[in-house]
Amino acid sequence: PMGVCPSAIMPLLKDNFTGVLRPWARPEVLTCTSWGAPIIWDGTFDPDVAQQEARRQNLTIGLTVFAIGRYLEKYLARFLESAEQHFMVGQRVVYYVFTERPEAVPHVTLGTDRWLRVEHVTREPRWQDVSMARMRTLHEALGGRLGREAHFVFCMDVDQHFSSAFGPETLADLVAQLHAWHYHWPRWFLPYERDTRSEAALSSEQGDFYYHAAVFGGSVAALRGLTAHCARSQLRDRARGLEARWHDESHLNKFFWLHKPAKVLSPEFCWAPAIGWRSEIRHPRLLWAPKEYKVVRN
Ligand code: UDP
Ligand code: MN
Repeated sequence: PMGVCPSAIMPLLKDNFTGVLRPWARPEVLTCTSWGAPIIWDGTFDPDVAQQEARRQNLTIGLTVFAIGRYLEKYLARFLESAEQHFMVGQRVVYYVFTERPEAVPHVTLGTDRWLRVEHVTREPRWQDVSMARMRTLHEALGGRLGREAHFVFCMDVDQHFSSAFGPETLADLVAQLHAWHYHWPRWFLPYERDTRSEAALSSEQGDFYYHAAVFGGSVAALRGLTAHCARSQLRDRARGLEARWHDESHLNKFFWLHKPAKVLSPEFCWAPAIGWRSEIRHPRLLWAPKEYKVVRN
């Protein structure tokens, strides 16, 4: 029982991409935040309206993904092939694949007005550093060609695949994903960084939700700010000999505490099948791959 949207906020839940949202369609879940941002659940939006609005604006939507080391062979083809089936179908899409082995990127047949760019990056030796280095690399990409090409960008982990439509209803200036394992946990129990010396630290009175770093998005300008914040915080921690508990995800959670997302995606948008059946999860859009750290991590 997450409570419903306060009736004072409900009339304000209009959205640039979906027109009017229908938060009352899902009374069993929380459909808006305390700061009035919609939490997008299946049934609360009209995908056709979102589709038409995005077309009207003639948007280009970027999707970034890193595939470094064994993550490339293990996950990239399925991620991209499933994105062709389900990610922003009907819009102009540019994939940005970051890898240390551009020649190993699988060939994926792309639909019309869909493009794939491969960007070379160097491989950090530790998996934690591979994960964290994404923030600086994304920051640079957003300041370059990606930033000039795209209006909105999603940044995703590669160890997952799309299972149904992930469309423009998810677009907003700053978009955060509720973490499938933690969306119903009490705030004080959430796995934020608690070491007050860290830039990522949140106290037991702080934090709204625990957000998943496997999916975040927004406008190019907003993501420039997000990636700059996280890259800078990671560097400051490192200079003090610190590493946040969940790496870039800890810094991302601190950023979203300081800068509230304009839209929040329900766990239906990035679901972990290992959790099992939940009545409120109607229609998962992205599914986590089983964790196989022994195979993919060094
Ligand atoms: N990643 C990668 N190679 C690595 C480590 C990480 O390509 O050696 C990328 C990949 O996109 C991956 C993301 O960084 O999905 C985050 O790492 P991971 O998925 O292992 O973290 P988790 O989701 O388990 O916290
Ligand atoms: Mn992952």
